[in-house]
Amino acid sequence: MAVNQLSNRNYQLFSDYHTHPQGHRVQYYSSGLLQPWADSARQLGLTDIAFTDHDRYHTGIEFDEIDHLRERNPDLKIRAGIELDNDPVHSAAGRKWIEKHWDKLDFVLGSVHFLDRADQMFDSVPNGATQFEGRDLDAIYADYFRRIRDIAATGLVDCLAHVDLIKIHGHRPATEIGAIVNETLDFIHARNIAIELSTAGWRKPVNELYPSDRIIELALEKRIPFTIASDAHSHAQLGENFPRLMQKMANFGIREVCIFERHQRIARAVCAEPLL
Ligand SMILES: [Zn+2]
Ligand SMILES: [Zn+2]
Repeated sequence: MAVNQLSNRNYQLFSDYHTHPQGHRVQYYSSGLLQPWADSARQLGLTDIAFTDHDRYHTGIEFDEIDHLRERNPDLKIRAGIELDNDPVHSAAGRKWIEKHWDKLDFVLGSVHFLDRADQMFDSVPNGATQFEGRDLDAIYADYFRRIRDIAATGLVDCLAHVDLIKIHGHRPATEIGAIVNETLDFIHARNIAIELSTAGWRKPVNELYPSDRIIELALEKRIPFTIASDAHSHAQLGENFPRLMQKMANFGIREVCIFERHQRIARAVCAEPLL
């Protein structure tokens, strides 16, 4: 029997909705590329995973291969997804591809990786940090969240990824974060979009969950639903730090996460018993 490292007496985290089988280059989907992800999921006790490669690598995504993987692993729910960002060079083609394949996709993540520079993602570690040097951090934060609203407004995303990625290198605004994000969270709520709780922030310089506690509080107040995610770029990263995430969710009393099937959002309990 698989050792389930992702549950305690009250909680069981069973999904991971942000994964990159291709990593950071085009690699065509094949059983050799995808099966290790299914094997890792099973080992961890995950039963529902979404592949969300970057839209700039959409040519590698083969829906037939995802179907074959589903046939070979009937105990798992495997969702076809993609991460659409604001890449000034590639995203126009990415959007077209998403529109064309909308009915085959279960799930689209939206994200912002680019600020003013078209040639460098601001979340490159460590070089992206240079984009913050000598800049007004409040203005950078305001600009970032405006771009988040732009992605949300495309009508093509089911969920926003790492919604406060702008903190990745540890830069903090002078203004209280709640005042900066409030309008954006209202916009997300009005658009009926989910946000993710991403453990990826724990392996970055900021060393903090995406999003921050204050943003989680506001999202809970506004009843914005959550997915849970590792942003794994290797099958070895699947479900990374989920026990720590589970503790965070217990502290906030978050008792359900959402999953997606053909863009339909479904809430699922992750907490079987009353919280202590
Ligand atoms: Zn991302
Ligand atoms: Zn990602």
